[in-house]
Amino acid sequence: MEKVQCLIIGSGPAGYTAAIYASRAGLKPVLYQGIQPGGQLTITTEVENYPGYPEGVMGPEMMQHFEKQAARMGADIRYGIATKVDFTGPVHKVEIDEEKWIEADAVIISTGASAKWLGLESEQRLNGFGVSACAVCDGFFFKGKEVAIVGAGDTAAEEALYLSKICSHVNMIVRRDEMRASKVMAERVKNTPNITIHWNSEADEVLGEKTVNAVRLRNNKTGEKKEINVSAFFVAIGHHPNSDIFKGWIDMYEDGYIKTVPGTSKTNVEGVFAAGDVQDKTYRQAVTAAGSGCMAALDAERYLGMKGVH
Ligand code: NDP
Repeated sequence: MEKVQCLIIGSGPAGYTAAIYASRAGLKPVLYQGIQPGGQLTITTEVENYPGYPEGVMGPEMMQHFEKQAARMGADIRYGIATKVDFTGPVHKVEIDEEKWIEADAVIISTGASAKWLGLESEQRLNGFGVSACAVCDGFFFKGKEVAIVGAGDTAAEEALYLSKICSHVNMIVRRDEMRASKVMAERVKNTPNITIHWNSEADEVLGEKTVNAVRLRNNKTGEKKEINVSAFFVAIGHHPNSDIFKGWIDMYEDGYIKTVPGTSKTNVEGVFAAGDVQDKTYRQAVTAAGSGCMAALDAERYLGMKGVH
């Protein structure tokens, strides 16, 4: 069985940053890219809020830069999906592509999270062209325009408020007659003059050829349909952390986010670290994920040093 010092699972900003730091520390990291090499940023368009790119950069291009930098530092970057783990012994085991096992003294989990989508054909077709699951990332491109957001939790409330400061008008599409968001957030949304809440409403279809120009709503009580002209359609109905294979092996919250010791990337299992969106449901930004990837590599380096492996 192949044995490595440091195994990194996942290839978003957290995974690649961990790979850069771990390589420079001489840990000879092996990184498996997972189902979506480059992670969530590969399905966005322009990124304007990652420091160091004064002109902005396309998400997929930025992730190529991350990968190139990690490779240049010596990281061994491989296609492959972690399909099972076994964290019983002092040396950790990870199964790749359901066919081979690899052993590692330290494992960095940076498998990210995936946005939940409504499942509409138009939502998929216009993804990145007005449809987005991140208002903080993409709201700015619709400055002064009318937009829509679906969802009624704290994320949707926070994002609707964020959009209300940039966009001319925000249509919030809520499927029930109340919001799930905390009372204070819901009240704030209700009291914002340029947010209209469409209660008992569902998005029937996002309309537009190449970019979004309207959304068709259906009232789920009356069946009545109406169209509103919007330039963007934001989906804020929650995220799934990609942590299923770790269930039962490490501590996680009920909703699947991995627990880390505050201020560190340490999980409850020695030598297993977590970074990026798989352990962060609050910030979820490329730059915060990259920062936590750096923390994970430094924590892994210290752990391996203490163990006498490195
Ligand atoms: P939540 O699961 O809390 O909310 C999801 C929302 O999306 C619900 O209102 C739900 O409706 C709605 N929804 C789900 N599926 C659909 C669908 N198919 N069609 C229409 N609407 C749908 O997710 P969040 O991302 O908002 O929050 C996740 C966690 O993070 C929560 O615990 C939240 O409190 C926390 N959080 C805290 C923040 C803070 O404290 N500042 C900021 C952001 C998040 P319904 O209510 O009908 O089920």
